[in-house]
Amino acid sequence: MSLSTRVVPLALDELDALSLHVRRCVFWEMDPEAVLASQDFYDPEFEKEAWLSTVMLEWGTCGQVVHEESDPVGSALYAPPRMVPRAGLFPTSPVSADAVLLTSLHVGPGTQIDRLGGDLVRAVVADLIRRGVRALEAFGYRRDALSTEALPTDAGAAVVASATAALTCSEEDCMIDAHFLEDFGFEEVAPHHRYPRFRLELHRDHEWKEDVEAALFQLLEAAALTMTSQDSRVPAGVGASSQLRRARMQADPRT
Ligand SMILES: [Zn+2]
Repeated sequence: MSLSTRVVPLALDELDALSLHVRRCVFWEMDPEAVLASQDFYDPEFEKEAWLSTVMLEWGTCGQVVHEESDPVGSALYAPPRMVPRAGLFPTSPVSADAVLLTSLHVGPGTQIDRLGGDLVRAVVADLIRRGVRALEAFGYRRDALSTEALPTDAGAAVVASATAALTCSEEDCMIDAHFLEDFGFEEVAPHHRYPRFRLELHRDHEWKEDVEAALFQLLEAAALTMTSQDSRVPAGVGASSQLRRARMQADPRT
């Protein structure tokens, strides 16, 4: 039996849809030195909410939440790299200027990252294509590198590790597994044994193209229906589909 899942954009008045960890996690959203300097008197939940509201007001939707039946079970957060303090601190920084950064991909315990994580990233991609963004990038985390590498000699790792010590955050919890990104079709554009940077071009053919088109189709269908109801010259019964075809052609420069 498969549970029905549904992905919806994160809304500022529905932050409880985020997991307890994501709600308080500022791994990506605060400068690690500022966290260390203020760890005794700052409130991570307040800081996270302030960050989310700033990004939503200045840039727009920056999160997607996946629901299973009616329960939120995972989330993805994304933002322009200039709004993500941690984005500049990896050995594989900076993120390309034309890309949006996927920061957090979090799926609750007992759920499947491949399935729900895929649903979430497809929703992010559909949202960004609709907004005309050219690429999505992410810093991957190679878990298996830890067992074979000498951590203390790696300067990049030291920065990240000390920064997260102030919170119960870890690279494992707060970064995205490199294998997941590779499996989804992201390309490794800045190789690294622990923090490779990945990129997904948003206007190329991918395996998931049909899924993304289905998500786009729903968005455009809703828009076309609105247009039809406002346009009395369109004969009843043919308006939505023909306007939808036109909308799709306008949205996709390849056709
Ligand atoms: Zn965290």
